Amino acid sequence: MKKFTKQLDIRSKNGWRVLLVAVMSISIAVLAYTYGKTVQACSQLNYIVIILAAYYWQTKGSVTVALILGLSAGPLMSIISYGSLSQHPLNWILRVAIYLFVALNVGYIFNKNIEKSEEIKEKNLISDFTGFYNTNKLFLELGSLIEKGERFCLVFINVVNLEEISKYVDYDIIETIIHRGTKHLKSVFKEENLYSVDYNEYLIIQKEYDETTFVELMTKYLEMASKTMVIEDYSFKLVIKIGISFNNGDISEAREIYNKARIAADQGEVYKSGVYVCNDRFRKEKELFNEISGSIQKALDNDEFYLVYQPIVSLTNKELAHAEVLLRWDRGERGLVGPDIFIPIAEKIGLIKHITTWIIKKLITEKKEWKNKGVNINTAINVTSVEILDDSFRDWVEVVVKENDIERSSVGIEITERVILNDEKKINGILSSLREKGYKISMDDFGTGYNSLINVSKIPFDIIKIDKYFVDRMNELEIYLMIKHTISFIHELGGTVIAEGVETKEQLEMLKELGCDSIQGYYFSKPLVSDEFMEYYKNFDINDYL
Ligand code: C2E
Ligand code: CA
Ligand code: CA
Repeated sequence: MKKFTKQLDIRSKNGWRVLLVAVMSISIAVLAYTYGKTVQACSQLNYIVIILAAYYWQTKGSVTVALILGLSAGPLMSIISYGSLSQHPLNWILRVAIYLFVALNVGYIFNKNIEKSEEIKEKNLISDFTGFYNTNKLFLELGSLIEKGERFCLVFINVVNLEEISKYVDYDIIETIIHRGTKHLKSVFKEENLYSVDYNEYLIIQKEYDETTFVELMTKYLEMASKTMVIEDYSFKLVIKIGISFNNGDISEAREIYNKARIAADQGEVYKSGVYVCNDRFRKEKELFNEISGSIQKALDNDEFYLVYQPIVSLTNKELAHAEVLLRWDRGERGLVGPDIFIPIAEKIGLIKHITTWIIKKLITEKKEWKNKGVNINTAINVTSVEILDDSFRDWVEVVVKENDIERSSVGIEITERVILNDEKKINGILSSLREKGYKISMDDFGTGYNSLINVSKIPFDIIKIDKYFVDRMNELEIYLMIKHTISFIHELGGTVIAEGVETKEQLEMLKELGCDSIQGYYFSKPLVSDEFMEYYKNFDINDYL
């Protein structure tokens, strides 16, 4: 429809131009005659019309107009307007020739001009790095596909670690990587469908595809592209994230499909290659992300968060030894959302420090109330790498601990094994200094971070917490043996072991037999709000459970 309107537009524009040229040439003739000037004046003014025609239609137009004007200004026109003396035919032929000469020259200049500007336009559409089309062209193409209502998909390829690599190697190595990458892309996809945003970001428009087969194709492409490559003395493994956004005619903006492909490629772990599709599930996750990220700060301001405490029972001392502090969010009518969902979001949007600061302040207030009731129990909070790596945060904790006269040995810090693996050296250094000060370090979710027992001995810790995943599978021999060896190895290293997520007496018995030090789980209690926890603590008798 739009295409048709465009054609109509061009036609009506041309109509107006023809009219203008015709009116001008007639007016010139009429003027010349009315004011009694000679035909010379008329023929000079005709050059304006020829130039105008060249401007509108280049050589084709200027030559046509020159011919018409030249021919009509010949035998039809007398030398002087009020006389009847006709021009000599030679004069007339000469005039036509001069008109044509001018028309050809001016037309040529306008032709060249247009070619040049087209060339510049084309150049603006090509990326210097790769020779592929750039985003200017991409958006033109996306716009036109959307306009035509065509079914197509957009693939966004991000070479995540190329910028990092470029900091350490010469630029010609990066050029070689780009060259190999673009060559590989050209061998799999048609070049006219390839686009590049930056040297590490590429896009593909695919018009004919079957969704499943195409995802498989991209997965195979990824396997090849992320293989280790050797250049000179270096070997690299590119981390590549691929995001695909399928458009079945339901997207009306080029920017929307572009963003979808881009965001899809942003899923998964930061330094892990993968192919991700922007689908319904992803859209819902994104909506939840937007909703939650938009309300975390308000929740902090309005006191919508509260703390719960999950008892951790010592089998060695047969007592409720300490508690893990867990966060809850009362969102009223907006429904429940667990910390496993909102904590990672808070981390991503940079609000996790605000949350942990709030937790510590709240914890201190509630612990003071416990103390007034004569209860003094150790608690452990969960922290992420953001806080642990933040000097100012650690300094703030020190100040708060001193100001409130809190014994450091009563403060436990739980940090997941995976977090430690992210930046092992630095985090290990920090954990060592925290331990030296007296804080108790727990390695959370043990067993889920692909760490070997040998590596564990390098990490400074007091306690390891065996993840619920393994407790749930204790009936499987390998897992049973793994837990058994872990417990004895950790004991040899001088640490203690807590088993998480214990829900049955049977699990408790098995863990007890293996020498596990402490138990946390629904078998004893779910996480409880402060008052409930006080009640539980007062009434606790391990014999009720054994
Ligand atoms: P986590 O640190 O591993 O915490 C243990 C989780 O297991 C808690 O879930 C707890 O309620 C649950 N759990 C304990 N025993 C059982 C059991 O017997 N059965 C079952 N099914 N579940 C059990 P929760 O409170 O939903 O927390 C989930 C995760 O969210 C936590 O895992 C932790 O990673 C994070 N989280 C919770 N509170 C905080 C917080 O204050 N700060 C930070 N940074 N993370 C937190
Ligand atoms: Ca924990
Ligand atoms: Ca855990």
